[in-house]
Amino acid sequence: MSGFSTQAILLRKIEYGDHDYIITFMTQTLGKITVIAKNAKKSVKRFSGALDLFSLNRIQCRYPKKNRDGLIILTQTELENGFVNIRYDLFKTAYASYWAELVYLWLEEEKVQPALYDLFAFSLDMLNRSDISPQVLNLLYQIRFMSISGFSPSIESCESCKTHLDAIPQKNVRFDLKEGKIICESCLKKTAFQGQAGSGGPRHGLYVSKGTLKQLFWINNSDLKRADRIKFSPFAMAEGQALMESFIPFHIGREMRTLKFLNRLRREI
Ligand SMILES: [Zn+2]
Repeated sequence: MSGFSTQAILLRKIEYGDHDYIITFMTQTLGKITVIAKNAKKSVKRFSGALDLFSLNRIQCRYPKKNRDGLIILTQTELENGFVNIRYDLFKTAYASYWAELVYLWLEEEKVQPALYDLFAFSLDMLNRSDISPQVLNLLYQIRFMSISGFSPSIESCESCKTHLDAIPQKNVRFDLKEGKIICESCLKKTAFQGQAGSGGPRHGLYVSKGTLKQLFWINNSDLKRADRIKFSPFAMAEGQALMESFIPFHIGREMRTLKFLNRLRREI
C-alpha cells in the first residue's frame, strides 16, 4: 500500500520554502506523524481551510516513491471540525495549545496511541462546546494524559505504608513530584530524602489537601461521559493546577512555551 487515510489533529505547522508546509499531526491510526504539504499555500482546493492549529481533519497521505525514508506526502485534507469557539477565545486557545504541545513533546513518531488520541479529541470537543469549564477540563486532560503515558500519579494512598488517604490524619499531604506519589507524614520522617532548610519533605514536592487529591482521583478514574458533573472549588482548582503543572514539566524535563504563555495570561487577565 502506498498511502493511507486517517483522522488527524494538527499539532504543528512550519513553512518550508515558498510554497510548502511541514506539518505534524496526531493521527487516530498511526500516532504522531510529520508530513510535507506541497504547494499548500496555493492549493485551497486540496487543503480546504484545514491547516489550522489543532483542527480535526480527515487526511490522505502517500509515501514517497523513491525514498521510503523521505517525508510522507500530504495529498488531501477535509476539515471535520475547526473548533471555531476555541479560536475566538484567548484562554481556550492557550489551553488547546498547551495540550497540543504536550502531545508534540511527549510522543515518539509513529507510535500508535489511540487512547491518547481519543482524550485529545474529546477534550478539544468539550472545550469548543463549553460543556465543562476550561480549568476543570485542563486538569482532566493533564491527569489522564499522564495516566495513559504510564505516569499516573499515585494519590489514593501513601505508597510506602499503604495508608489510605482517608486514614491519614493530616489535612494536607506531601506529593513527591519525582516519584509521582503521595507520602504520609510518618513515612516522610523516616525517609532518607529529608528536605533542606526545614522544608520537610522530598526535595521536589508540594503539599496538597486531601480533598483536592480525592477530586483529582475522581476525574482520572470516572466515566468520561460524566465529566460535565465535575465541580471544583476555586481552592481545589488552584491546588490541582499547581500540582499537575509542576508534575508534568518535571517529567517532560523542559520548560513548555505554551504553559508559560498560559500563566502569563492568567496573571494579566
Ligand atoms: Zn506512609
